[in-house]
Amino acid sequence: MRKTRYGALAMAAAAALTLSACGGGGEPESGGEGTGEAAADSVRIGIKFDQPGLGFDEGGEYTGFDVDVAKYVAGELGYSEDQIEWVEAPSANRENMLANEQVDMIFATYSITDTRKETVDFAGPYFIAGQDLLVPADSDISGPEDLEGKNLCSVTGSTSATKIKEEYPGVNLVEQPGYAECVSVMASGAIDAVTTDDIILAGLAANAESGDFKVVGNTFSEERYGVGLTKGSELCSDINAAIEKMIEEGAWEEALANNLEGVDYEPNSELNPPTPDDCV
Ligand code: GLU
Repeated sequence: MRKTRYGALAMAAAAALTLSACGGGGEPESGGEGTGEAAADSVRIGIKFDQPGLGFDEGGEYTGFDVDVAKYVAGELGYSEDQIEWVEAPSANRENMLANEQVDMIFATYSITDTRKETVDFAGPYFIAGQDLLVPADSDISGPEDLEGKNLCSVTGSTSATKIKEEYPGVNLVEQPGYAECVSVMASGAIDAVTTDDIILAGLAANAESGDFKVVGNTFSEERYGVGLTKGSELCSDINAAIEKMIEEGAWEEALANNLEGVDYEPNSELNPPTPDDCV
């Protein structure tokens, strides 16, 4: 069993290496100083680089709850931390990155949806958040119905932007590549609110360098964070077993508490910790 699982990852890593070799111009692969075999002993994990508390690049050191869950799962799959290669996975690129085998797994506030399941597989969920709004501290906006004719920022390729387009067509949606950009635009006064998952907004509010913002606290969706996998991946059951173990051992709760320190956010305790779905 272990062999199959390593085999699948090794193949994915080898395929990714071939791709980057063809693409050229990239950085050297981690662990690539020896033979191809050494390079195949690493795992490429897609995360966000700009979401404090979840997936954040602190000058080459990666922190956040997604990062901690990814490290735990990778450890259970047989990879030490120095065998992990962290790759930025912006919202709009996630499906393509998996389809092109640029990464082996994605832990990037990545909601499990039926549309996405047409092109990628998911393990998990390992966390359940809800879509909410971030507004200036003195704003009286209390939900998406107050945004008619107002400027709202969200991110291209996110469920957050899709929901607004489908259910609140009267809102003027401004799209950015990342949520941190949305917060900067709001600090400049050009938009009235930012929308995405409550846990992301709370982390951004706690870390905002300019502006005084608050999360409205009125969620209007359920965002079930899954581990994105290439279609047909054999890793789902092992990843789910790792998530269950992380929860049972208390490491899940500890990771969440550590990453939410100083952040004004309470996870929904009726939904968390979640039980991973059956792998199909
Ligand atoms: N969880 C939502 C999604 O997967 C929004 C957050 C994000 O863009 O990562 O689209």
